[in-house]
Amino acid sequence: MGMAALALLFTSCEKDQPENATDLAQESVDMSDFYVHTDFNDEDSKAAEHGKNCYSMKNLNRLLKEDDKLYRKMYDIEKNTRSILAKQGNTAKGKPGSGDGGGTTPPPTDNLGVVSIPVIVNVVYSNSNENISQAQIDSQMAVLNADFRAQNSDAGSTPSEFAGLVADTEVQFTLADVRRYSNSTTQWGTNDAVKAQYPPFSPETHLNIWVCNIGSGILGYAQFPGGPAATDGVVVGPNYFGNTGYVSAPFDEGRTMTHEVGHYLNLRHIWGDGRCQQDDFVADTPSSDGPNYGCPSFPTVNCRSTDMTMNYMDYTNDSCMFMFSEGQKSRLRTVFASSGPRAAMAP
Ligand SMILES: [Zn+2]
Repeated sequence: MGMAALALLFTSCEKDQPENATDLAQESVDMSDFYVHTDFNDEDSKAAEHGKNCYSMKNLNRLLKEDDKLYRKMYDIEKNTRSILAKQGNTAKGKPGSGDGGGTTPPPTDNLGVVSIPVIVNVVYSNSNENISQAQIDSQMAVLNADFRAQNSDAGSTPSEFAGLVADTEVQFTLADVRRYSNSTTQWGTNDAVKAQYPPFSPETHLNIWVCNIGSGILGYAQFPGGPAATDGVVVGPNYFGNTGYVSAPFDEGRTMTHEVGHYLNLRHIWGDGRCQQDDFVADTPSSDGPNYGCPSFPTVNCRSTDMTMNYMDYTNDSCMFMFSEGQKSRLRTVFASSGPRAAMAP
């Protein structure tokens, strides 16, 4: 075999697998609208008024300040997410009704099947109420599984405008262990003190939840993918966990956890934590200029489109949120891809 034949071999090999294909795909990913820091604070007074406050974005801001490499890490995760979605023919851009593909998000074409996440529940209590029952923990597991599999009994309440977008995310949860800790601390705050005291168990493969009183009217907060392993997981108040036992209306149906686990799987708030021009990076969730509270009437129109107020990633009451969208499903499942930040959880 002469050099020419050898060269031909290499050439045809290169044609089969052009080494710059990935680079080209990466270059076609538009990251121009990416942001992680948010200073959207005018919801605070409203949040206090409605007693609803999720601290996940502020927790993210804190982590970004503490670690100057985290921004780049989250940028790369987002770029990877968009690259995967682009290959699936999906897109982070577009709005329903605007003629740019929103509202017709195709289902993801990943071959992972159902992803089952083992869960560690750390109950940290200073009184007997906070030492929630096994029945209350089981009720939360049931809510998470129903909501993420679109088997919740209120899924059928979705208005026809959005009914076609209700998604079974094909993510489910199994209770691996419950760990109970008595501690005289009555308010744990939002600086991850509870995680320092009771570190997570195998956070690469397990969702760790700390059930403890946070204080300051905070229902819960999650860490987005990309953050430190030592603080990975979700913190939630005992009275916002599950739907039976020591629970507080109107956040007594376990949806705080559905929302926080959404963040944990890289979903943003439905309004993008900014005004109309800021986005949650999901095409089929219409733009909104801020959170909705209570139980909004339908339709609630903002930014010239109907808000998806019944989405788990809004701020409405537990009984008034009952869906993830197909676009959110596509987005959150990218974290389980082999190149994704939660690949170790994939089957
Ligand atoms: Zn939130």
